[in-house]
Amino acid sequence: MIKNDTALVERLAKPSSQAGSLDDLPADVREDFPLASLREAFPALQQKNEQGGALVYFDSAASALKPREVIDTVADFYATDYANVHRSAHRLAERATERYEGAREAVRRHLGAGEVHEIVFTRNATEAINLVANSWGDLLARDCMRSPKLAVSMMEHHSNLVPWQRLAARCDAELLVIPINDVGEIDMEAYEQILKTNDVALVALAHISNVLGTKNPIAELVACAHRHDALVLVDGSQAVPHTSVDVKALDADFYVFTGHKVFAPSGIGVLYGKEKLLEAMPPWQYGGEMVERVSFQQASWNKLPWKFEAGTPPIAQAVGLDAALTFVRRIGVPAIEAYEQRLGTSMRQRLQKIEGLTLLGEARLRAPIFSFALDGLNAFDLAALLDKQGFCCRAGHHCAEPLVRHYGLSGCLRVALAFYNSEQECEAFVEALAKARAMLA
Ligand SMILES: *Cc1c(COP(=O)(O)O)cnc(C)c1O
Repeated sequence: MIKNDTALVERLAKPSSQAGSLDDLPADVREDFPLASLREAFPALQQKNEQGGALVYFDSAASALKPREVIDTVADFYATDYANVHRSAHRLAERATERYEGAREAVRRHLGAGEVHEIVFTRNATEAINLVANSWGDLLARDCMRSPKLAVSMMEHHSNLVPWQRLAARCDAELLVIPINDVGEIDMEAYEQILKTNDVALVALAHISNVLGTKNPIAELVACAHRHDALVLVDGSQAVPHTSVDVKALDADFYVFTGHKVFAPSGIGVLYGKEKLLEAMPPWQYGGEMVERVSFQQASWNKLPWKFEAGTPPIAQAVGLDAALTFVRRIGVPAIEAYEQRLGTSMRQRLQKIEGLTLLGEARLRAPIFSFALDGLNAFDLAALLDKQGFCCRAGHHCAEPLVRHYGLSGCLRVALAFYNSEQECEAFVEALAKARAMLA
């Protein structure tokens, strides 16, 4: 299945400045995803379980593993260039600032944003969404005469739901819920109808669902929202690890993601916002770094993006994110996506063959994330028995409780694959699941 292609492996092993993306390679080489060498790049995958078998990590939608070069980059940064940014006039501060702002440029490039100051660093996706709900929310609150509405889809993560509930309560605005169809895709007709018949100020939508795996047609959804004068915030937390994102092509007004799901350290998130919107928005946290001039009585605000980055930012985490994006770009996002499509399709076929297994979501466009119920078995019991066999999976409502309840469940088991997972692991999983099931019967 995986042919050993030394030329490609060598090419991937080169530092980023010398290596091109896989797009430059001939098509026949692209077929051969260098799985073995990529797996070696992840120290956590080299561990064994108690029986001496392999550890299988199927929980990348909760957080992804870190490649050695991300870990090393962060450690080296602390050892050589670390200091606080934007402040002191010494060499370390200068180098740290260069690395931190360099990471911002790497994110701009990765998302296809036009301006580097359209990229704001936060702690995670949750904080990025709260930033918009608070700051853009201030503008909305001032406009209460309008009695606007907000809209979310049924498949939102709590992080892209609860902040909008709070804003709706603050503005006395209604929060509308966009339904999904039988296969777990956004119901496009209902979506357009909601926008047509309501004064919706903003729609918050997941690019890819962390439960169903559904990949939403964001460009189409954004265009429809814009036709009805609504802004769109896209939650790309599950999209950036699995697919190419071009915020300009999507025409998203806001786009957020979280570093730890794209192989970067935890503690770093990103908000992209269109310049005009970010300019109009007030700061949402106050303190050092976000100010221009300060007297005892008042202060004026710094320029974008620092207006939104109060206090010492996650400096090393941003440097780690830069390394993670470099790693991903060296493999090539299209190559990752192609491999994951093949792996995901075969995993889906394996799961569909299991009697008594109900898959949540059968969308045509999807990422390799699968949630399911098995007979009436408790998902936590299944996950515990799978863990004993070396499989790391997640059980529960996956921070999308209303969605899981929509399927009549209180919890389900989730298998979330990444490019470091293999066919062999998927095959072994089906056997392990059968064993766990027999033990619970
Ligand atoms: C994980 C996730 C989030 C939240 O990410 P944090 O890092 O916890 O802020 C938001 N939305 C989706 C779709 C997610 O998968």
